[in-house]
Amino acid sequence: MEFHLSDYSKIDSYLIAHLDESIAELSRLVAQPSVGAQNWGMQACAEMVGEMLQKRGFTVEILPTGGAPVVLGERKGKSDKTLMFYNHYDVQPAEPLDLWETPPFEPSQRDGKLYGRGVSDDKGHLTSRLHTIDALLAEDGELPCNVKFIVEGEEETGSMHLPKFITANKEKLAADACIWEFGGVDHREVPMQYLGLRGICYVELSIETAAIDVHSGLGGSIFANAAWRLVWALNTLKSPDEKILIPGWYEGIIPPTARDRELFAAQPDVADEYKTQFGVKGFLKGLTGGVDLQIAEVFEPTCTICGLTSGYQGLGSKTVLPARASAKVDFRIALGQTIERCLVLLRQHLDAQGFSDIEIKFMGGGPAARTDPDHPFIKLVVDSAEEIFESKMELIPMVGGSGPNYPFVHELNMPVATAGLGHPDSRAHAPNENIRIDLYLKHARHMARVLKGFAQ
Ligand SMILES: [Zn+2]
Repeated sequence: MEFHLSDYSKIDSYLIAHLDESIAELSRLVAQPSVGAQNWGMQACAEMVGEMLQKRGFTVEILPTGGAPVVLGERKGKSDKTLMFYNHYDVQPAEPLDLWETPPFEPSQRDGKLYGRGVSDDKGHLTSRLHTIDALLAEDGELPCNVKFIVEGEEETGSMHLPKFITANKEKLAADACIWEFGGVDHREVPMQYLGLRGICYVELSIETAAIDVHSGLGGSIFANAAWRLVWALNTLKSPDEKILIPGWYEGIIPPTARDRELFAAQPDVADEYKTQFGVKGFLKGLTGGVDLQIAEVFEPTCTICGLTSGYQGLGSKTVLPARASAKVDFRIALGQTIERCLVLLRQHLDAQGFSDIEIKFMGGGPAARTDPDHPFIKLVVDSAEEIFESKMELIPMVGGSGPNYPFVHELNMPVATAGLGHPDSRAHAPNENIRIDLYLKHARHMARVLKGFAQ
């Protein structure tokens, strides 16, 4: 059976007629702070999300984790197939507050946009999907298929407890496909389909060489210097040609396929845009642009020093021999690499290089995962977007950032598709975060088509 435009006229009319109510509901959710990093309002926000689902006939559970609770909602539908929505209710800190034009937790509308912390990332995605649910229920009294929501509260702080939660609740979370928390259009208004996320293994490397900092005239020639020990250790991790020197690091990596190259070849070249946007003169490893640059950007493992701390960095000079030094290092990891193995290899390498005094603290992360670009569910999400966005959705095989998609893809064995209301000026994580209300409506209309198409 084929769906035609007219099949959605009732749903679309409902979504338009009740749009203001949905935006008002989103505004109430944004007004409830839920800043994970500051442990501010987490339980209250989880309960609010639970009530929003309950109101729509979902069976709701608010389950504890080692950190912020997870909200689960489930409502049966006509078909036995189950679609899952993954969202999160936590938000990034709003600071610096003085850069906001209106207060971050007092959502306000202007020029077709709604501003507020979390309005795009990720509360707007959640409420626009609930708006879809309302429209489907209004049309038919029931949903076309089973729908599950998993709404976590630790996405912005690394989803530390989510993978274990998923493993422990596999049966409860069983579903056939998943719509991810985000998505949106690029600067050309083209909707994007991000098929995978690179993994990350974030560590802090630290060393303590003495109980206290020492006068450098006293200790300089006879005591070990923590800053130097750390610098030497870091120097063994990567060579100037960007190769990670930890033995075994590249073993088991799944290389990009010919299809990945083909999909990237269909994308505009990003080289010039990156040069202007970031003020860089060129790229590493002799890369100049095109498919090779895009493949390297998202498929290759990295070793990034994110920050270094030691000794004295204030005004003037201070002759001191630092007793402590530490570095935050993020390893983006490729498909096929695991956190456990990376941590073992890193330890073995530091030991073998004479740095068993360097402590490794794992700060969080997860492996890379992705969905096959040619999976039928991806086709459904992509095809149903075209009518609404008036443009073909573009397939991006992988993005360089990270997120907890691995347990969804590999533990729950589901295809994961992205879809959403983001736009290039959404300012997620930054002051004046906003959504475009036209895209909010488009996303809700898109999800109605995905839900009905999926049920068939
Ligand atoms: Zn975020």
